[in-house]
Formats: sequence, structure tokens, C-alpha cells
Amino acid sequence: MHLNSRYPQLNSKLYHHQMPSPLKGAKAGHFNETLADELQWSNEEKQNWVALCSGQQTFSSFQPLAMAYAGHQFGHWAGALGDGRGLLIAQVFNTKKQTIDLHLKGAGETPYSRMGDGRAVLRSVIREYLAGHALNALGVPSSNAVGFTSSLQGVQREKLEPGAMLLRSADSHIRLGHFEWINQYAPDLLSDFTQHCISWHYPECLEESTPILAFAKAVIQKTATLVAHWQLVGFAHGVMNTDNLNITGSTLDFGPYGFLERFRPNWINNHSDHQGRYTYEKQPSIAHWNLWVWLNQLIPLAPEGNKEKFKAELAECLKIFEPTFLEAYKKGLAHKMGLPTFHKDSFECSLDFLRILQQAQLDYTQSFIALQEHRYRDIRDECIDITSFDLFLNKYHQIREHQDTELLDQTMQQHNPHYILRNHMAQDAIEAAERDDFSEVDRLFKLLAKPFTKQPHLEKTSDLTPPASDAPEISISCSS
Ligand code: AMP
Ligand code: MG
Repeated sequence: MHLNSRYPQLNSKLYHHQMPSPLKGAKAGHFNETLADELQWSNEEKQNWVALCSGQQTFSSFQPLAMAYAGHQFGHWAGALGDGRGLLIAQVFNTKKQTIDLHLKGAGETPYSRMGDGRAVLRSVIREYLAGHALNALGVPSSNAVGFTSSLQGVQREKLEPGAMLLRSADSHIRLGHFEWINQYAPDLLSDFTQHCISWHYPECLEESTPILAFAKAVIQKTATLVAHWQLVGFAHGVMNTDNLNITGSTLDFGPYGFLERFRPNWINNHSDHQGRYTYEKQPSIAHWNLWVWLNQLIPLAPEGNKEKFKAELAECLKIFEPTFLEAYKKGLAHKMGLPTFHKDSFECSLDFLRILQQAQLDYTQSFIALQEHRYRDIRDECIDITSFDLFLNKYHQIREHQDTELLDQTMQQHNPHYILRNHMAQDAIEAAERDDFSEVDRLFKLLAKPFTKQPHLEKTSDLTPPASDAPEISISCSS
């Protein structure tokens, strides 16, 4: 590995150095060798992946550290948080010369653990491992993981579960909540911290007349585009607190996430989210709210005597959120639908299709596949309101009539996955893994690596089917 240890350049109030505390009886879970290669792991490091992914071995030239941050959780100020169960154990160059953080989750108590035990259970580690992998393969910016380990050590949740660790990779672990922590507890560090964020993650902003405003706009743009990606693949993050969104607009900290199966935009996938704050349909407005909280943290950076003007300029930055989101979402939806992006009726026609899916509670992913394969009859047969479907189909054909449908169909194939990670798929893999059988994790890992390619030799019928509409849901909640 080629280290680029830059976080420790920051003021030491922002983190706490400590070593991981390994679990008893660590054992191999799964290893992502392709990612290890991208991160330029040597053969020796690859051979030692179990030790590295279980905290038994670290990199001598990087002193592991827990980061301090704060945040708004479920819309309320939660005060100081920080890495309560994870450590940054390295920053490395990948083959594209980008700096990637390696963060070991479940590595034991830190000064930021509050009431927690510093641990993660196998169930949540597998969910994060597979979802990060799935999102990356779907082309959605996201953290990923080099590997995970299970252990013989029990960790108490509602019941005793196997403790586990995940070696997560991400382009940044700097959260919106870092800025909230600094303003509250160490305001003198704000300017230097922001300069570092800009030079590490948005160096192009340094060329602008007001780098901070350019930085604010860039973060807003990245976040809006990320949420458009989520909406298009049907991903609900589940816990979009300001401490779980980073400044590079890549998906992070998605424990109680869910991929939509039957198209229910108001489905609550996180069972700790009693009011449905973080449902799929609310993600764009919640991202906007989080960014508004974040922009407020930048106000102290106003030039001397210019605070009111600077505040107005920050507020102005947020205006790009909605058009950026809509542009990415409309374009992506047109690609999924096989409609031309430039046609004035494409978006309305796409929304008609979504309304049909919602009304009949059809599977989001498989309905797009049916459309792509021109199996219109299959969708029609499941519809409650046949008239609406026929009207939609007429409009759909009219728009496509004088277009290059072969090209549109090709685009559909690149944008409609056959496979997403359904909750029951993850659950089956977890139950086997809890019996030390990781073969189902491995099967899903391979299947989800190529979501746009049909893989009959790997797939099971249940990978393509949503649960019965009245089936009880698998309960997924925060911080497990
Ligand atoms: P999360 O819901 O996983 O994003 O976690 C929110 C905050 O709680 C973060 O500061 C975590 O580090 C902390 N946390 C979650 N679970 C634990 C745990 N088991 N032990 C210590 N801290 C935890
Ligand atoms: Mg978190």
C-alpha cells in the first residue's frame, strides 16, 4: 500500500489516537480482492487480510485514530458524537492516485463511544459490506469495504450476536457534522479545517474568487447528484443524519438502509425512524435540510465586516440544489425508461409509469426490466387500473415512435439492474454466516458485482421477487 497520511496534519483536538482492540477468535468473513488491488495492496498485505480486517495488525506508519464530529440526528441537535466504534487505520493512494480512507468499524470503545460498546455485529457488517459493493457496481458513489471478519466473541444487542469488524474504504470520512463539532467545541479551528477540506477534496475551488462559496456549491452539487442516484436505483439510506453525510457526496454509514422492492415511496425501512423522516420519497428534501444546517456552519468564515452579504451568498448557493437534483433525476429516469432525454413529454410519461407501479405495488426493479424487455403485457396483467396503463403505453410508444429505439433500448440495459440487494437476500446470507457458512455472502457478492448482466448460473428466483405484499417485514434498525 502507498500511504498518504494526511488527516493527522489537522489539529489534534479533532481526533484521538488509539489502537484497535481485537475481538476474540477472529475468523475470515469475505475479502474483496479486486478492491484490494485497486488500493494497491501488496501480496503480503492480501495474505494478511484477516489480521488487517480484525484489528490484529495495523500499518506501522499510520497511528490509528478516532475522529471527533457532531450532528443533527432525526432533526435535532445531538451534540458531540464522533467515531464511537471505528478507527481510521490508514489513508492510501489507489491506482487512480486518489486518496482513500481505510476505516475499521467495530474496533472497540473510544472516547466518543458514549453508552455504546464500540462493537458491530455480524448482521450489520454483512449488510454494509454487501450494500457498499452493490452501490459501487450500480455506479452510485459509495463507501465500500475491503473485507470483513466474524469472531467467537458475543456482542449483546436484543440477543447475543457474533461480534464482527469491517474494513471500510471511502473517499472521505469528513462528515457535515465535523463542521458542527468545530463550531460548537473548537471554533478557532474552522478556517484551517475548511482550507484543508478544500485543498484535499475540491482543489479546483482554490482557483475561484471566493473558494469557500465555490466549495459550498460543489458539496451541494455532489450531494444533490448522489440523492438523484439513490432515487433512481431505489435506495433508501435510512438514517440521513448530518453525521452520516460526507462532504464528497458519496454514500456513507448506511446501516438501516433498504432497496425499494414494491414501489412504496413512503415505506419506512428503518424501524427506529418512527415518524418516517427518512423514507425514500423524503430523501431529496432531507438532503436539502442537512445542507442548510451545514451552510450555517460556514457563516463564521465571512470576511471581516461582510457577514450579512456572505450569509446571503451562502443562502444563494443552496438554490442550485433543486435544479441539480432534478436534472440528474430526469435524465436518469429517461435512460431507465428508454425515452429521449430531450423530449418535452419524457418526464411526465416516466411519472405516469411510476404512478402505475405505486398503485399496483409492483416491484420497482423488475418492472423496469419488463419495460426494457418489451414485456408490456406482464406489467398490464398486474395492473389494477388497466385504462391508465393503456394510456401510458400509448403515450410511451408515441414518444418513442420516431426515435432510434435500438439506441434507447441499449441505454435502458445500462441503467436497469436485474439485481439489487433485497432485504431477504441479505437476511439469508446473514443467517448462513452466523452458522459460519459464508457461501451465500460470496454468491451475492458475485451476483451484485454485475447487476446489469443477467447471470442465470448464479441467480435464484427469490433474487428477482419481492416478498408477498402482506408478508411481515424484516426489522432493521439503527446502530447495530
Ligand atoms: P450510527 O447510527 O451508526 O451512524 O452511529 C451514530 C453515532 O453513535 C456515532 O457516533 C457512532 O460512532 C455511535 N455508535 C453507534 N453504535 C455504537 C456502538 N455500538 N458503540 C459505540 N458507539 C456507537
Ligand atoms: Mg454514523
